[in-house]
Amino acid sequence: MKFDIVTIFPAMVEQPLASGILRRAIDRGTLDVKVHDLRDFTTDRHRVVDDVPYGGGPGMVLKPEPIFRALDAIEAQRGRPAAVVLTSPQGTRFSQDEAHRLSRLAHIVFVCGRYEGVDERVRDRVTEELSIGDYVLSGGELPALVMIDAIARLVPGVVGDERSVEEDSFSRGLLDFPQYTRPAELAVRGPDPEIPAERSAGTLKVPDVLLSGNHAEIRRWRKREALTRTLDRRPDLLRGASLDEEEEHILRELQDGRMAGLQKGKVGSEGA
Ligand code: SAM
Repeated sequence: MKFDIVTIFPAMVEQPLASGILRRAIDRGTLDVKVHDLRDFTTDRHRVVDDVPYGGGPGMVLKPEPIFRALDAIEAQRGRPAAVVLTSPQGTRFSQDEAHRLSRLAHIVFVCGRYEGVDERVRDRVTEELSIGDYVLSGGELPALVMIDAIARLVPGVVGDERSVEEDSFSRGLLDFPQYTRPAELAVRGPDPEIPAERSAGTLKVPDVLLSGNHAEIRRWRKREALTRTLDRRPDLLRGASLDEEEEHILRELQDGRMAGLQKGKVGSEGA
């Protein structure tokens, strides 16, 4: 899969691409990522990419011509992209579903805004505008990297064991189950710094089921934990979740248990 990133700070995106999963996928040729310095598409001696806003007001605006030239050059060198994404806090909210959709495209260009943003006419050349959340960052470089990382993980061959992607949070509308690694027992002191270590010390243990070697039990425990977490932290996700029969059953058990707990509490408080 091909990605192109248009930015005035190439070093800001090159560094994160040079390590970890993305780096390995680039080295293997599974991903083809090119970073383009917007200043290379200016025509003046000072390589100016921004100008003051018409109508006045604070800040600067990224000029349209260098961006149009950069997009033309990318199309000429690398072919017509399937999507040109403008990073913008005003865009559609990026999500795991969006990542899945974009991971099926062969070639995506990201345009990174800066300052007050890009000249409005650039929106004529972009196919979509995406935001990574309801907050404002100083530039589109981090959002572009966030989206590329999330999209690339879904491209076959990028993550070594594809089961880990399938089990990731949000993949089926569920948060991931808790993970543990060695040691099976961890000596810790208590959280209260006022209590001396020798009196607060305890042991944090890995749940017995994970050490049991009983794979059917482990699978069921993980399903229950993923459902419990989702119910506690993000019940909204369960509306769109695709659950198997066993998960549906566990979810009903959890919901019935909670309902019974609530009713018990209500009767208790009414009786008091
Ligand atoms: N004045 C703009 C507004 O209120 O919509 C914000 C400009 S912001 C300081 C500069 C650039 O950072 C934007 O053009 C965009 O490329 C990027 N950016 C900031 N927050 C973002 C977000 N939440 N998602 C995606 N891109 C963002």
